Amino acid sequence: MDAHMTNSSILILLAAGCIIAPALTYAQANATPTVSRAFPDRVSSSDRAAGASDPGYRAAAASENVQSLDPAAATQAWLATMPRAQREKSDAYFEGGYWLILWNFLLAVAISVFLLASRISVRLRDFAERITGFKTLQVIAYALPYLVIVYVLSFPLNLYEHFFREHQYGFATQSFLSWFREQLIGLGVAIIGGTILLIVLYAVFRRAPRTWWIWGTVVAVSFMFVVVFIAPVFIEPLFNTYKPLTKPEIRDPILAMARANQIPVKQVFEVDASRQTTRVSANVSGVLGTTRIALNDNLLKQCTLPEIREVMAHEMGHYVLNHGAKLLTYFGIFILVGFAFTHVFFDAAVARWGSKWSMRGIADPAGLPLLVLILSALLFVATPFLNTVVRVTEREADAFGINTSREPDGMAKVALKLGAYRKLDPAPLEEFIFFDHPSGRARIRMAMDWKAANLPVGQSTLFESSSTSP
Ligand SMILES: [Zn+2]
Repeated sequence: MDAHMTNSSILILLAAGCIIAPALTYAQANATPTVSRAFPDRVSSSDRAAGASDPGYRAAAASENVQSLDPAAATQAWLATMPRAQREKSDAYFEGGYWLILWNFLLAVAISVFLLASRISVRLRDFAERITGFKTLQVIAYALPYLVIVYVLSFPLNLYEHFFREHQYGFATQSFLSWFREQLIGLGVAIIGGTILLIVLYAVFRRAPRTWWIWGTVVAVSFMFVVVFIAPVFIEPLFNTYKPLTKPEIRDPILAMARANQIPVKQVFEVDASRQTTRVSANVSGVLGTTRIALNDNLLKQCTLPEIREVMAHEMGHYVLNHGAKLLTYFGIFILVGFAFTHVFFDAAVARWGSKWSMRGIADPAGLPLLVLILSALLFVATPFLNTVVRVTEREADAFGINTSREPDGMAKVALKLGAYRKLDPAPLEEFIFFDHPSGRARIRMAMDWKAANLPVGQSTLFESSSTSP
């Protein structure tokens, strides 16, 4: 969902869909098939000959292992396996994304200022008031042209960011026409969703001009909830096809992890993401009854079973740890604070420039560009904090994933594959500001720490041999 809904035509959904959509679509993994020894848990013939089934032997082997693996050195060794050219390309792609945050913000500001200063916004409002006396219909008559104008004005940057740039780095698989077709579908969804949100918000603005920021938060969170709830049923099928996993050699190990974690089997799917991209990924979408875990076909083609198990265990972590509901709560707090600031700034701006721009107050649709301008600025400033909230949540899913899949090497390999589009080894401040997932280095280090700890697998014979009393 994120790829289709990030264009600025739906800036108005800033407070709602735009924030939640990328955050709830937990992107994962990418790259070349590698040989893995980690799954299934095999014992070589020489180990067997040496008595590997004997608990004493296994305990001794385990303690040897603890001493032999230095997590810091192992992390560096994994990082060093990525060829330099590939690393430079990935860094360039990801760092370009930092600038795109700035350009998108400046573009949103420029569009808002243009609509206000050119009086297009006021004329749209006057037009809406001429054709109908109903306040709700006036909001609709303002919102429809507004959303289309914003989409058109932001199209050049959208085209560069989501079409040319993706092709330049080899991630996109679509021709212009099929990409543009999906853009129009996305615009249609944004117009329907954005108009509904604006109708409800302006009803709140009219009834509670001083406390709208409280009730508006309730509206925004409810709206996000509905968008997330219906996304797997009504929105995602517009772009991709989801079907149950069929290959038994992939399906069975994944369903075994699902059963072990009380996840209903009917919620694990495969999605044809290769229609749009070469990226390896998986995601969780929906909330409550519509929650669905999906791995994409690129992942199935490019990853070995240990890697697939690790990615799916990560996604299951989002499900089991109830991250959808938690993120909705965290974002609700952000929105409440953001709306409180917006309330203050908006009224101050109207007091100062209201007569010049013919804006009457928060309940006047002519002020929508000003509202969007303030929200865009607050969202821009909040970027590091929103990223950190999401990144910490992702780290929890990583911890769940490694403990469930028990695939430290698989996790390291997946982290390297994700390194195709996410900078592998950023500076700490850079990771804090820009990363909505842990960096590859952080993930590999987590995997190597887990591996070095060499946790017992819980066989009773091992416990009996290493403890003195029951
Ligand atoms: Zn995730």
